[in-house]
Amino acid sequence: MSAQPSLATPYRTHTCGELRGDDAGAAAKLAGWVHRRRDYGKLIFIDLRDRHGITQVVIDAADAPDAHVTASRLRAEFVVAFEGEVARRQPGTENTKLATGDVELQARSVTILNESKTPPFYVNDPEATIDESLRFRYRYLDIRRDAMQQRLLLRSRLVQAIREVHHANAFVEVETPNLIKSTPEGARDFIVPSRLQPGTVYALPQSPQQLKQLLMVGGIDRYFQIARCFRDEDLRGDRQPEFTQLDLEMSFVDEATVMAFIERMVIEVTRATTPERPIRTIPFPVFEYDEAMERYGSDKPDLRFAMELVDLAPALVGDDGTAASGFRVFDDTIASGGRVKGITAPGMGGATRREIDELTERAKRFGAKGLVHLAAHARGELQGPIAKFLSPETQAALTDRSGAVPGDLILVVADAGKVTNDVLGRLRVELGTRLGLADPTELAYCWVHRFPMYQWDAEGRRWDATHNPFSGVVPEDEALLTTTSGSLDERSPDDPAGRARAMQYDVALNGWELGGGSVRIWERELLARSFNLQGYTPDQMKERFGAMLEAFEYGAPPHGGIAIGIDRWAALLSDQTNIREVMAFPKTQSGSDLMLEAPSAPDEEQYQELGLRFVGVPERR
Ligand code: ASP
Repeated sequence: MSAQPSLATPYRTHTCGELRGDDAGAAAKLAGWVHRRRDYGKLIFIDLRDRHGITQVVIDAADAPDAHVTASRLRAEFVVAFEGEVARRQPGTENTKLATGDVELQARSVTILNESKTPPFYVNDPEATIDESLRFRYRYLDIRRDAMQQRLLLRSRLVQAIREVHHANAFVEVETPNLIKSTPEGARDFIVPSRLQPGTVYALPQSPQQLKQLLMVGGIDRYFQIARCFRDEDLRGDRQPEFTQLDLEMSFVDEATVMAFIERMVIEVTRATTPERPIRTIPFPVFEYDEAMERYGSDKPDLRFAMELVDLAPALVGDDGTAASGFRVFDDTIASGGRVKGITAPGMGGATRREIDELTERAKRFGAKGLVHLAAHARGELQGPIAKFLSPETQAALTDRSGAVPGDLILVVADAGKVTNDVLGRLRVELGTRLGLADPTELAYCWVHRFPMYQWDAEGRRWDATHNPFSGVVPEDEALLTTTSGSLDERSPDDPAGRARAMQYDVALNGWELGGGSVRIWERELLARSFNLQGYTPDQMKERFGAMLEAFEYGAPPHGGIAIGIDRWAALLSDQTNIREVMAFPKTQSGSDLMLEAPSAPDEEQYQELGLRFVGVPERR
């Protein structure tokens, strides 16, 4: 451990986590909150807490009668300062759970610095289940709790490590403004009305995307920022209206250069932040998007366990390649170009009717028409409602392909390829958790890249960017950025553009998307071509991306970067899946700050100055 700086102040000589056996006999002053009080009449014990730890203070009526009188008034969460002498605890009364557990402070004097009302929940009980809205309303009390403190400390270490690695690699930390013009990342913008120019608005950045690319045009070479981003979208556990990204961009790079730096950075940052957690595979496994979907049914696969999706078609087709398994659903699906795939749940062969029904319900909710289950028995024999349609040879072939051993359960989906992969991918994640297949301490990072560049938007008859409108195309696919009609204004779902792959890479961790980025299009003509395919008219391009298109006429270097979600990273590193747990002051699902009571109605004066009026919404005061 690195040497601690002295945190002594006029109120304390030591923190509440500092005193050890060696300090016995020394005079000391401690200040903190009353964590717990035990009153034995003549003896009062106080567990005194600050963020560094807890120290036991004892006030003995015989030694310090005045202090004892004051101490008997102490209640939980009072802020107090004690002065006294450090003493070893009586042999046998040491507390091995506390770093300070060998000693206690024998108080001579007590000063109540501040009293506290009875808190609305137990700050001192780590097991207490507390309603989240109560935690949000009294977040400052929630933050006093050890678990929250540990998570905020971890997050602070994470950001510190990020800064250190980037500075060591010649990155420049540049702040970009929050009052900007829309920079799209596929969500709704938050807007801020301008007082100086009534009738106009700024947009809060959904990301610093355009600005970081302009920094590359500005010759900064390597940029990073711990950037606040704002996206007005419906909130879920892993979404907040404002969140933090590690945003970075590098010049004169190709895909391999950026990915190599990011991987090294992620490893170093992880080791600095949570040295105790093993990284499962280094170098990180790399999947092309198609392969990830095929094997895991997800573009953010959880690699802590196998349970891969298996193509069962080869076990169902005859020598002539047509399906004749005897089970109509399988045969029809294969004949119509769909997919029959499965996952093998280890040891689930004895699943109850209810468990199966529940899984089937889930599969349907995920979009499947049904879920076939087959329990594996000895000698390649399968059991389940549809087993009777399958010949012994087919059963043996299915067992073989799925890798099932007796006692396992094969879950099969037969549907269009996309549905099959998606449903099985989601079941895989569910079962992985339920069966405890993933080692919770492990960190399994991986890359997914070569995403499709565009997806067809039937209504707008245009090719929407799947990720970033500025993403570059894989060099060998550049010729595909065209249409069958020959005109970029007349697009159709069969255009070659639909087959183009982007130089887009995502980094995933334990089944969550941690971040994503791309090597950008850095040539103006190609960028205009891509925007055109995305359906922007020249006027819209100028309106939306004018500054960037113009900048690209003044010499843009090849560049690329990534943004990594810091909230999610901190959450996963501290074993949470909800990013609210690693944010000091998060908002509720409906976007409220329950402590500050935001959002709230503007003042009369603000309405006036901004020339604003809300129409058609109930008045709120
Ligand atoms: N700006 C992108 C995002 O916020 C990340 C990137 O491409 O660098 O998702």
